[in-house]
Formats: sequence, C-alpha cells, structure tokens
Amino acid sequence: MLSGVFRLHGLVVASHPWEVIVGTIALTVCLMSMNNLVTSDQICSWSHGCPKLQERILNSDIIFLTVTRCMAIVYIYFQFQNLRQLGSKYILGIAGLFTVFSSFVFSTVVIHFLGKELTGLNEALPFFLLLIDLSKACALAKFALSSNSQEEVRENISRGMAILGPTFTLDALVECLVIGVGTMSGVRQLEMMCCFGCMSVLANYFVFMTFFPACVSLVLELSRENREGRPVWQLSHFAHVLAEEEDKKPNPVTQRVKIIMSLGLVLVHAHSRLASEQPGQNRTVHGSSGVLTLNGPMSQRMEQEYAVWPLTSMDLEQVITLGLALLLAVKYVFFEPPETELSLSLKSPTTTSISAHALSNRRPEEFCQREHELSKPIPWTSCNPNTCPGSDSEPDSNTFLKEERDEVIHPSMAPILGDMSPPPLSTPSPDPCTPVPDPSSQPRSIDQCLSILRNPEFGASFLSNAEVVELVKSRNILSYNLEAVMETPERGVAIRREILSPKLPSCSALASLPYKDYDYTKVLGTCCENVIGYIPVPVGVAGPLMLDGKQFHVPMATTEGCLVASTNRGCRAIALSGGCSSRVLADGMTRGPVVRLPTACRAVEVKAWLETEEGFRTTKDAFDHTSRFARLDKLSIGLAGRNLYIRFQSHTGDAMGMNMLTKGTEQALTRLQQQFPDLEVLAVSGNYCTDKKPSAMNWIQGRGKSAVCEATVPARVVREVLKTSTASLVELNINKNLVGSAMAGSIGGFNAHAANIVAAIYIACGQDPAQTVGSSNCITLMEQVGPKGDDLYISCTMPSIELGTVGGGTNLAPQQACLQMLGVQGASLTRPGDNARQLASVVCATVLAGELSLMSALAAGHLVQSHMTHNRSKINLPEMVPSPSEKL
Ligand code: NAP
Repeated sequence: MLSGVFRLHGLVVASHPWEVIVGTIALTVCLMSMNNLVTSDQICSWSHGCPKLQERILNSDIIFLTVTRCMAIVYIYFQFQNLRQLGSKYILGIAGLFTVFSSFVFSTVVIHFLGKELTGLNEALPFFLLLIDLSKACALAKFALSSNSQEEVRENISRGMAILGPTFTLDALVECLVIGVGTMSGVRQLEMMCCFGCMSVLANYFVFMTFFPACVSLVLELSRENREGRPVWQLSHFAHVLAEEEDKKPNPVTQRVKIIMSLGLVLVHAHSRLASEQPGQNRTVHGSSGVLTLNGPMSQRMEQEYAVWPLTSMDLEQVITLGLALLLAVKYVFFEPPETELSLSLKSPTTTSISAHALSNRRPEEFCQREHELSKPIPWTSCNPNTCPGSDSEPDSNTFLKEERDEVIHPSMAPILGDMSPPPLSTPSPDPCTPVPDPSSQPRSIDQCLSILRNPEFGASFLSNAEVVELVKSRNILSYNLEAVMETPERGVAIRREILSPKLPSCSALASLPYKDYDYTKVLGTCCENVIGYIPVPVGVAGPLMLDGKQFHVPMATTEGCLVASTNRGCRAIALSGGCSSRVLADGMTRGPVVRLPTACRAVEVKAWLETEEGFRTTKDAFDHTSRFARLDKLSIGLAGRNLYIRFQSHTGDAMGMNMLTKGTEQALTRLQQQFPDLEVLAVSGNYCTDKKPSAMNWIQGRGKSAVCEATVPARVVREVLKTSTASLVELNINKNLVGSAMAGSIGGFNAHAANIVAAIYIACGQDPAQTVGSSNCITLMEQVGPKGDDLYISCTMPSIELGTVGGGTNLAPQQACLQMLGVQGASLTRPGDNARQLASVVCATVLAGELSLMSALAAGHLVQSHMTHNRSKINLPEMVPSPSEKL
C-alpha cells in the first residue's frame, strides 16, 4: 500500500513538474522571508553589505572543521567519479542539480534555524555534503532515462518512487533520529553538528520527494529533440534498469529492524525532550525563532575561547579547503578518462541533442561534411564506400553516436590528439573500388596508429578504416581478430569487407550481402570466423502438424519453391487422418577415434580389455567427468590390422553433442594411454563415428536420435487431398523407395526426399547443416490397410537424426525464434534431452508429411507441372526465341 502511495505521488510530481518546482521554490523563499520578517535585525542577508559578526570558533574546532570539509569534498569527488563511470553526463548533470538545489534548501533552513549569520552555514555545509547520498537520486534518474517517451518517463518515475520512496523515507527517518540523539549530548559543537545533520537529511528528503523528480521529468521533456523521434536521453545500458532495481527489493528483515529502531529512538527523544523542559536546565534550540541559546559552563568556556580567535587561522583553513576543492576539480575535469557512452550535457542540450532518429535520416554526404566542420579531434568514423556511400549502406546510428560522444571530448585532449586526429574526408568516390584521394589528408604512420590503438584512452575508434587496413596489411592487426580489436564487431566486419572487395572479380560483389544490425557477439568464437556478413534465407511455415496429440507449426528455411507448400499438404492430410504418432527409440551421439598399437595381437588385447567390465568402467569414469550431461553408454570396437576403431556412444542431454563427445573421448583416450603406454592416438576422429559422411554404421547402429513415425490415411483423404489412390502410392513406394534405392546401392536412402525437409528445418533451427547427410537416413514404408484395403498406412524410420536445442547455431536469436515456434528452445526444464527428442520427433513427422505429398504428386504425375509453376524463376531466364515451327 505504501508503495502505491509513493507511486501516486511520483506520478503526480512527474506529471506536473512546473507546479511542483515553482511550489518548492516558493516555499523555500517563503521560509527565508518569514525569517527575515521575524528576525530581520539579526539575519545576515546574502549580500556582502551585511555587517558580519565576529567569528568565534575554537582553535581545535578549526582543525576539526578543516578536516571535515576536506573529507566532504573528497567524498563528493568520489561520488561524482562513480557516477562518471556510468558513462553519462546526463546522470552527472541531474546529480549536480540535485546537490545544488538540496544545498540551497539546506542553507535556507540553516539560516532560518540560526536566524543570524552565515557563519553557521559555513560550518554546516561540510556536514550537509557528507550526508548527501547521490545513489538514490541517480537510481531515480536512471529510471527516467530508461524510458522511450515522455509518457514512459512519468510512468518510470512513479515506478521508481514506488520502489525507492518507502526505503528512502525510512532511511531518512532513522538517520534523523540517530543523528538527533547527538543533539542531546550536552557538547555544544556536537549538538550543533547533529542539528545540521538532521536538517541536511530532511532537506535531502524534501528535495528528493518534490523538486528532484519534477525537475528530472521537466528536463527530459525539454531536451527531447522532437516529439516523434527517439528521446536523446535514452541510454542503452539503462534498458534493464527497471527490472534490475525491481529485483533489488529491500531486505524485509533490515526494514523491520529500522522500524523498531526508529520507534525506540522516538521514545528516547520524547523522554529526554520532556526532561529538558524541567527548570534549571537552560539548553534549548529554538528552531522556529531562529535563535540558538546555549548556557552553562560549556558555553561560558566557549565564550572565553572565542575571544582569542585569530582571523588568520580562518584564512588558512579556507585556503586549504579551497585548494583541495580546486585540485580535485582540475583532476576531475582534465585528467579523468573520457566516457564511453553518448554524453549529453544538461547545460547545452542544443549542441548535443541530436537524436539517433534524426541522425539516421541524415544523408551520408552531410555526415562527411560534418566531419569537415568539426574543429576538435574526433574519433574516425567510417565514410568509405563500405559504410558511408549510398551504394550499399546508410551511415548507421552507432557511428553517429560515437560522433556525438566526441563533441563533448574535453578540449584538454586536443593537444594530445592534435596529430592523431584523422585526416579530413572528401566526398566518397562513386566507385567503391577506387580509394578516395584526398590531397589534404595527412596519413599517420604505422607507429602513430599503433600507439593510438594501444592507448586505452583512445583505441580503434580514433583510427580511420584506411589506417586500420594498413595495420592489417602490416600484420599489426590480424585479419581474423578484427572484430575483437575494433570498438564494435560490426566495424571489424566492415573493414574485412573493405579489404576483400578489391580482390574479388567484381568489386561490388559484396554490396548485396548484408552485414549490419547483426549480433556478432553470439557468432564470434562459436559459429563462424572471418565474418563478412550473413545470408538471409526465406523461412516458410508448414502445418499445423498433428503429432502425438499436439499441434506444431514447423519453420522451414529453403529456396526451393514447392517444398513448403508440398509439406503443408502432407500436414493437412495427416491432420484430416487424426494425426500421426512417433517414438524416439534410441538416443546416443558417437565419436570414433582411431588408435594404433605396435602389433595386431596387442590391438586385440586392448580390444578385449575395453570389452571387460573393468575396461568399460575405467573409460566411462574418464569420459563422464567432462560434462554434466554426457554419459558414456556403449563402446563399439572395430579392428583393422593393428588399428583400433573405438566408437564412443553417449547421450548428450539437449545438445547435439559433437563437441561434448570429442571432449569426453579425448579424456578417455588419455586414460587408455596410461593403461597401454604403447597405444598411439592417430586421430580423435577415425571416421568410425561417422560424422557428416554417408555410413552404413549410422544407418544400422543409429546415431543421435533414432525415431519412427506412423500414420493411417483414410482412402477419402488420399483421394481428395493427395489426389491419388492408396494402391498407386504403395506400388510406387515399392518400386521407387525400396527397389530403386537398392538398385542405386543406397545406404539409408530408402525415401523420396527426407533430406529436403531435414535441411530446411536444420537451417531454420540452427542445426549443423552438414549433418543433413546422416540425419536424412530414412526408410519410408507404405501398406494398404483397412476393411476394404484402400486406406494407407505410412511410416518413416530415421535412425540417425543428429540435432540439439542448445549449443552451436541454436544460440543465435533468429534460430532460437524458430525453435521457440516448436516450443523446444534451449535446455529442457523437466528432463535434459526432452527438447532435443521432441525436435527429432517433429523432424521425423514432417518428413512423413513430405513423403506423403511428394509421393502422391509423383503417383498422380503432378510433379513436373507444379515445379514448372512454382519452382522456376522467370527472372534469370533469357528470352526464348520461338522456333521456326512455333512462328508458323
Ligand atoms: P556445445 O555448445 O559445444 O556443448 C553444449 C553445452 O551446453 C555444454 O557446455 C553443456 O554443458 C551445456 N548444456 C547446458 N544445458 C544442457 C542440456 N540440457 N543438455 C546438454 N548440454 C547442456 O554443443 P555440442 O552439441 O556439444 O556441439 C555442437 C557444436 O559442435 C555445433 O556448433 C557443431 O557445429 C559443432 N560440431 C563439432 C564437431 C566436432 O568434431 N567437435 C563436429 C560437428 C559439429 P556441459 O559443459 O556440462 O556439457
């Protein structure tokens, strides 16, 4: 409920920023003027014309005050330094605003409280600074900055309030009560400090709840570039801030302790305040009248000591404090590393508030022109044929973001970068193969480029593409490593294309090969090397496929016309027949290394040992500890002379498992070598696996998942949907899929086109496409069944479906989307391997649908006709010259 109240409060404040800001300022000013009215004769005004009372502070206090002030300055410095690491000047600006206004409110309250002189404020400020906590203010600002629109800003501020408000309120209460205990200590200086502390906490709280959220909301609204465009403040790394902050719920135990503590403290305060009202004790702090009256021996001693206060000491203290502040300010401004994100200054939004939307609408030439105009050194952003000219690409927003960042690079960096800045760029050449000649450019030497690259403050973004190409040519950057060295992988890919293009038969060959807006982080080190782009393949959907009482919509990536349509027809026939049923009858990936022994007899000894229980157990122990999922199930050993071929078979959870098997096999072989030191490992794969090659082994023993699927199609569906008869289908199946394949000496190819379906699903779902070879092993069987013998029984048996739902290409987002369509993406939460087995069933059932449809088309003689209609592009065919007879 409390959160609801704070949420509502946040929404009201964020929706009416002007009202709240004006109201807060008015209230503060009222406080000041009320004070003026009441004690105008006593108060020192803000002007210097005010007669200043003689400052009276103890000598020991001076040291104490100086130390406190220095601590406060250092503390604030570190707070700002932490904020800077967030990489946003927006956050910095907002935090600064919070600090300034809070201190203004605080000062006002202090003056009002003391009702006399600025000396009090002078003493109080350090304590105020020490108690300021920018983290909550920044957390709220981050909520706002993670929004995409002004409406979202309000919504997020109110959500932020709901989350932070109750904690902040409780914290403020506890802080106030704890510090308030000090006001009863009897030590004048401590009482004074604690008083300031309480006021500081209250001022912070007041500003956090009112002025600050209103101001954040207003500032973000004013700094929007346009109402349609993307907000300029939106910073990518705050995208998940809401979720993260919501996860960080305050610990209920801590909250309870705080509540109990504050209740206890209220009692302590009540008790001691009531006691202090008793006669004889004249120590009161009248906040409302603005008069601080301190009597008793302590104050008398202070009176005496104040009288000997030398003015020079005060000057020295000020000099120390000021010096430290200046020193840190200089360090902060001039010697801190530059930020790595888009920086936006609150003070000059006009210079930096160029939204990505507006930038993306800018033409490349304008972008290049802009670089000419910039007098400051800028990180070089590509303006070359591959990234800038209209030939193949628009300048991407990332490039502009970098440019924006550089607009706020501090001038102090200019001398360092003066000769490091890239040469001005000329209008790009229309021919992407011709390097752009630029007479005014001053190419930097390899050494200069290397020092820029190796300098952590600059790096690759300060080099031009041409300079990077030179570094690649001189092998200072290895071509395969470009993505890792560049500031973004995409730029690495772009530069590789730039290096490759001139070497190709047509230098514009890559123009239509896309490479932008792709998540290369998922590719590097896992899926592909030397990347130059990606191939978009059309993805169709077949289904619903009724399988084991469930519906599946099967994604198929293919460029073969008719394939998806034909499979879809098969799915329809299955659905009208009541669906199909499947079972996975075996599950085990294999790896078959080849090892050599000194003699064939010795090889027989090793084989015999491996076939004993002890041999298997020892090998299994070594194999199993390499993975949480791979478990050795079986060893099949073949012998040829003194060579041994050991086929390790293991289930692999939801992974296809080739890497897993290789890892486990290596460990097992190492253990085997300890047992038989004369055993030599020739290769971890001896083609006995057998991976990605036709093999009777896979066909007979199975590999990966072995699945079978069946359906009974009524005669009516065969006639009306498949446009053929059961008898024709059965006859064709015998003569084509069985006899025909036997005549061709096929191994595992007793089907019409299983590979078509397997390949299409594999490409869509991120499987290893080369494993289509073994995975397409399939025997399709058809029989006439039913009372009249005119219904069709069809089954597809596939013994070696090699696939997985984790690892390899299944980690890429589009492929994951296709797996999600089937409800099998990632690791199974119920039982490891269930997702992969389900996918195998889907593959087998879709193959059955494809077999039904294609065989029917062949039986009915429709195949050629449909392929001519749907599978022949007219685009690349030369105009046919009519034959003389046709002319007639
Ligand atoms: P992998 O990504 O290398 O291994 C799977 C990873 O997922 C393992 O680290 C495994 O943990 C983890 N995992 C998490 N949850 C799992 C679950 N429920 N079931 C199974 N594993 C789970 O994938 P892989 O299938 O072994 O290898 C596939 C890749 O190998 C593909 O990229 C393919 O192209 C390539 N490939 C390699 C060879 C080769 O000879 N090496 C041959 C053909 C293809 P653990 O670490 O605990 O096992």
